[in-house]
Amino acid sequence: MKYVSEFRDPQLAQQLAQAMANEVHPDRLYRFMEFCGGHTHALARYGVLDLLPSQVQMIHGPGCPVCVLPIGRIDMAIEVARRPGVILASYGDTLRIPASKGLSLMGARAQGADVRVVYSVDDALQLARTWPDREVVFLAIGFETTTPPTAVAIQTARREGLRNFSVLCNHVLTPAAMHAILDQPEPVALDGLVGPAHVSTIIGSRPYEVFASDYHLPVVIAGFEPLDVMQAVLMLIRQVNEGRAEVENEFTRAVNREGNARAIALTDEVFALRDQFEWRGLGSMPHSALRLGDRYADMDAELRFALSTRVVPDHPRCECGPILRGHKRPQDCVLFGTICTPDQPTGACMVSSEGACAAHYRYGRHQADEVAA
Ligand code: SF4
Repeated sequence: MKYVSEFRDPQLAQQLAQAMANEVHPDRLYRFMEFCGGHTHALARYGVLDLLPSQVQMIHGPGCPVCVLPIGRIDMAIEVARRPGVILASYGDTLRIPASKGLSLMGARAQGADVRVVYSVDDALQLARTWPDREVVFLAIGFETTTPPTAVAIQTARREGLRNFSVLCNHVLTPAAMHAILDQPEPVALDGLVGPAHVSTIIGSRPYEVFASDYHLPVVIAGFEPLDVMQAVLMLIRQVNEGRAEVENEFTRAVNREGNARAIALTDEVFALRDQFEWRGLGSMPHSALRLGDRYADMDAELRFALSTRVVPDHPRCECGPILRGHKRPQDCVLFGTICTPDQPTGACMVSSEGACAAHYRYGRHQADEVAA
């Protein structure tokens, strides 16, 4: 399959593994954070971790949109879904995120709330057209990649005069989370960052330059295929060995420095920066998320339904917070694989395939680690 098989070629993978083994210094550790959940998934699914030299340690970052959504935001969605006449629409994974009182959106649906799974925001718009006497609320989540489609839907609703469509907006911003990781009171030791793939197609490589200049941290933007990630790790090893800290782009087939100007303009037109936003594991961060801009405030579900933000602690034994901050690994959680599984998740990191716990569980990373130990 052209454009896929080339990036999964076992022989090339072996060559890259050999190059890494040749170039790492045997007496030092190379600690790289894969910020994006898609990379976490690729590392586990394709066995890339087994091909890395023992000196290279991959640390999961907070780049899974389902994982970083805190309980309080799910509680808000449940609250609005329970209002008479409301249809709440969102992606399947979102429905399974554990919320307060043992509930989730799926649980709320079992109790009678009208919660629907959609595959795109367009499906939610179609619900609004089909049910003109109901209020359709789209629970929007995701980083910069999913924001432009939400913006298009909002503009379409306005153009069509759909007054029964609104958005509960949870779109968050990647560079803000990177700053939070690097500025946390007990920072995790890092030698480099694997920059996100899809997000970078929208925002370009330029927003990462501050991490190279101000934190002296190498950044390599990588695609999602296994050889993409391996090539990016090799590029990071070379930067570390040469004492360089630059933004390099392994994913040149899709990412440039400036990003997608149309998508950025569309986002700026429809959304505005929030002063503060709560992230799971990272706490409240200024200017780290988006709300609907003033021109579209009538389609902001938080305003339309007078929803208030709340802060709700995670399950006391769930380690999602430290995992999202890079301090712990999934197998450090006592609930991992026993009480907490993809079928019965206790924490958000076990819900989506991009979550660190789900990726490790599904692809047996925890078993591989036990065998190695
Ligand atoms: S195993 Fe479950 S409870 Fe533990 S950190 Fe992961 S998601 Fe949270």
